[in-house]
Amino acid sequence: MEKQHIFLSHDVDWSFEGPSDEHILKRKDRFAEKLFDNISINKLYRNFSEYMEIEEKYNVKSTFFFRTKYENGNYEDYEDDIKNLIKGDWEIGLHTDPSSIDDIEKIKKEKRNLEKIANTKIYGNRVHYLSNNKHLPKKLSELDFVYDSSNKKSKHNITKNDMGFSQIDKIIEFPVTIMDAYLFSYMNIREDKIISIVKETLNSCRQLNSDFKIISILWHDNVLKMKGGRMYPKILEFLSTQDDVIMHKGIELANEIKNN
Ligand SMILES: [Zn+2]
Repeated sequence: MEKQHIFLSHDVDWSFEGPSDEHILKRKDRFAEKLFDNISINKLYRNFSEYMEIEEKYNVKSTFFFRTKYENGNYEDYEDDIKNLIKGDWEIGLHTDPSSIDDIEKIKKEKRNLEKIANTKIYGNRVHYLSNNKHLPKKLSELDFVYDSSNKKSKHNITKNDMGFSQIDKIIEFPVTIMDAYLFSYMNIREDKIISIVKETLNSCRQLNSDFKIISILWHDNVLKMKGGRMYPKILEFLSTQDDVIMHKGIELANEIKNN
């Protein structure tokens, strides 16, 4: 049976403290009302233990991309969370700042900073806001990254152009196939339609003409308790019922491609 590979990833866009209470309260309608009775506001955006629990239930591991430049806080605040994820065999990737991508020294510094607190080598890259340019893969390759996932051709559709992988300057590139934020903004998808969208996406992945049939899913760390974002466990539940689906963290999939 031909396998469908799913690359599961989460970008950690906000600092440890998250946005201000005011910012969240202005967006209160994005959350279920009752959450505000039970959970402190600044915990609404931080969901590592919840993600770990969900993924463990389906026996899968993912990649968390951390920034090293947060607007309101230091990346070092995430040290315990990062160590915890690594201990549990999740992958940590670099969520490079868009201001770094033209300067290899800046990317190198970000990578080293993250490696220092993670106490492990970093192989995966995704630029914040998916900023990138055609010179980026060469820089990443010189810095010993193995793969990148900073591309998405369409914001308004899920297309075959955003499935599979390519190899540029020795870097394996996984385009983002499905992203939470685009589903709910550009595509205006209702929560109850998400599983059928994933089903359709999987069906078109099955028709790809490629050695590796891949869907890359980006589900931001901060959305798990939001309407829409809270569908993540349902997505894993659906995917885990499909006999031909394997879910991976990025480096595992990249290594499988390299060794093929
Ligand atoms: Zn980001």
